[in-house]
Amino acid sequence: MEKKGCDMLHPQSMCPAFGGLRVLTRIDGVQVCLVADQGCLYGLTFVSHFYAARKSIVSPELMNVQISGGTMIDDLRRTIEEIARDPAVRFIPVVSTCVAETAGIAEELLPRKIGNAEVLLVRLPAFQIRTHPEAKDVAVATLLKRFAGFSREKKAKSLVVLGEIFPVDAMMIGAILQKIGVESVIALPGTALEDYIEAGQVEACAVLHPFYERSTALFEEHGVKIVKGNPIGANATAQWIRRIGEALDLDVATVQAVAEEESQKTRDVLARFNHLKGKVIVAGYEGNELPVVRLLLEAGLEVPYASTSIARNALGEEDHNVLSMLGTEIRYRKYLEEDMQAVIDYEPDLVIGTTSLDSFAKERGIPAIYYTNNISARPLFFAAGAATVLGMIGGLLGKREVFRNMKEYFEG
Ligand code: SF4
Repeated sequence: MEKKGCDMLHPQSMCPAFGGLRVLTRIDGVQVCLVADQGCLYGLTFVSHFYAARKSIVSPELMNVQISGGTMIDDLRRTIEEIARDPAVRFIPVVSTCVAETAGIAEELLPRKIGNAEVLLVRLPAFQIRTHPEAKDVAVATLLKRFAGFSREKKAKSLVVLGEIFPVDAMMIGAILQKIGVESVIALPGTALEDYIEAGQVEACAVLHPFYERSTALFEEHGVKIVKGNPIGANATAQWIRRIGEALDLDVATVQAVAEEESQKTRDVLARFNHLKGKVIVAGYEGNELPVVRLLLEAGLEVPYASTSIARNALGEEDHNVLSMLGTEIRYRKYLEEDMQAVIDYEPDLVIGTTSLDSFAKERGIPAIYYTNNISARPLFFAAGAATVLGMIGGLLGKREVFRNMKEYFEG
């Protein structure tokens, strides 16, 4: 896609390794051993405490003297041994990051198991994995490769739901899947190592977010059917439920009835919000922005521009086509400067963006909220999700005048 004529300086993703740490630190009985330099360790410990599972990260001391002095692998093995002395630790992911020497660690030089704990090398160098959503995929795929029991017999009517979602969405998905006859559901990324083991026996995998390419390929390779899409908006809700029904060979009449019922409930919500008018720009870095745009378009809002940090890929192609058809300009692997240019060009009534973009919009008197804290921290699926997101957006669209007054006040 052609880039606009502005300087492309700031790719928009936090340290990619954070995505992997979010997946890994959530697992019960885990103790991450990070192999990175002290700067990365400082930053990653900080964000993991706040945005992952509030667990500390252990690391061998890796200053220049250890990295260049040839003792790194011995230091690392010693650290793993120390961690494994705690009998409560069942799993030690050894996470290597950007420092070239640590990125190239040979897996054969690490133990596979020590004491009670499985040891697994997870490579998350930012020069290869460009964004934190994609690092989540790398972490899940690495866990599945090692632990999933793909060779065991598949369980009928069993499903993996792949993608981090808000707890209310998880409950709704569980209830609806039960209604249509799904007998067992595993949510990944999960909190138990057993989830990754049992994931090898499912019949189908519903991939809720488009950046799980590696994990999806792995499931496909082992004969697991892939269900694309997600239950966001009325049309997609019906389609998603039907696709699950087909993949698991469920009772057609029951599936059809539930699909129609849930789709109608969402349509009713959309009708309740059809008074909403306005131009919204969506520019997050979570990799799941396009379905949110689809919901806004279905509700009658205008979305002239949307951007995301991930690359265009097959799992997101349906959304890409719908959005393009409805006139949204889409940027993948976006730069902050492109998002800023879009705010200037389109003069939106609301920006749902990254923190830097939000500041830029607010300086222009445009209401702006942080995608991650507002969209990812709310239900999004089915009728309840549509009601929550559109309710919030409705409130914000009414604030345009307030922001303008505030700008004038400070300028005056
Ligand atoms: S150097 Fe790499 S691992 Fe370290 S903080 Fe930066 S992106 Fe993350």
